[in-house]
Amino acid sequence: MRVLVMLDGTEADADQPHVRVDDLGLMRGDGVFETVLVVDGAPRELGPHLDRLARSAAMLDLPAPDLAAWERVSRQVIDSWTASGEMALKLVYTRGPEFGDGSTTAFALGMPVSARAIAHRETGVSALTLDRGFDPSIVERAPWLLLGAKTLSYAVNMASMRYVEAHGADEAIFVASDGSVLEGPTATVVLIEGDTMRTTPPTSGVLPGTTQGALFRAAERAGWTTKVEPIRREELDGAEGLFLASSVRKITRVHTLDGVEMPDSVKLHAELNALYESEYA
Ligand code: PLP
Repeated sequence: MRVLVMLDGTEADADQPHVRVDDLGLMRGDGVFETVLVVDGAPRELGPHLDRLARSAAMLDLPAPDLAAWERVSRQVIDSWTASGEMALKLVYTRGPEFGDGSTTAFALGMPVSARAIAHRETGVSALTLDRGFDPSIVERAPWLLLGAKTLSYAVNMASMRYVEAHGADEAIFVASDGSVLEGPTATVVLIEGDTMRTTPPTSGVLPGTTQGALFRAAERAGWTTKVEPIRREELDGAEGLFLASSVRKITRVHTLDGVEMPDSVKLHAELNALYESEYA
């Protein structure tokens, strides 16, 4: 099942075309998006997702999104969703048609969560570290690279997924050229050492993850120490817990890194999952 609502509130048939062939989102990946997890009719972290949509749009000099309208269409999609189970709610906002009247393209699309993501929540994943080819210092110096914006230009992210799959793994973890850990192509890295959770700072050119944010919030309440600080690649080897967090994948355990089995983190995974779910209880 899929549910499509344009930003003006018009419900549309998701099997029909609605975007022009000269749309700059299609032609150049010139736009931004969000994917929100909806469980039993409740969107998770909708506020942080909308904030990030606005931040990404600002980085691309798109007109500031009308967040009240985005929230309205999000609810409209959720209300029209009759299938059971979880929904992935995609919010897509592009610069619009190249030869149009200057108006943007904006819609919300509800669809099922992929079976692969659901399976990985249970089984965990094997990951390969991949060179992302930039140094975090470039983030400040080159804002046109849009590092930290969630743009529609995900071809590199998808290519990295195909690369790791062709090499027998499930997931990629990008590493910067100074040896610091960045993020997965669609997920945030979370490292556990004792009672401390750590993730890479957005100043390194990664997306601030809404799932990681929720996990850290719950963890702090439960007495964990949380840190948003750089992680060195070598710190991942043999780590007590290495996880990938994302809206549709929730908290996923990395059981094998670069072909080497990690310490068993099944119990730790259950603990982190319970913390994350406690945010929505
Ligand atoms: N980093 C990247 C590059 C992503 O694409 C995503 C989500 O798709 C994330 C991190 C995780 O963000 P969130 O937890 O908000 O889904």
